[in-house]
Amino acid sequence: MKKEELIKVWERFAEKNDFMLNPDKEHISALADGVLENEKNHGLKLCPCRLRDGSRERDLELLCPCNFKSQDVWAKQGRCWCGLFFRKE
Ligand code: SF4
Repeated sequence: MKKEELIKVWERFAEKNDFMLNPDKEHISALADGVLENEKNHGLKLCPCRLRDGSRERDLELLCPCNFKSQDVWAKQGRCWCGLFFRKE
């Protein structure tokens, strides 16, 4: 998948929900690079800013988009851990 396609998928995902993509396009681009690099190296679109431990269970937790609404950072700051998705104002 190309970076532009991945970002479109994220945009569509956000449009259907109560959150939005980070308006900082450079940050989005860097996160997309990280996800695609993980896909190249590990075969899965894994979160670019959290660490793997090599287990299947952990990898499933790190698939992007993850279950970010369960994270403390969402409750406290209204964003996913990496700042890809933000709560709509
Ligand atoms: S924290 Fe954000 S960037 Fe990381 S996997 Fe979850 S949704 Fe993707």
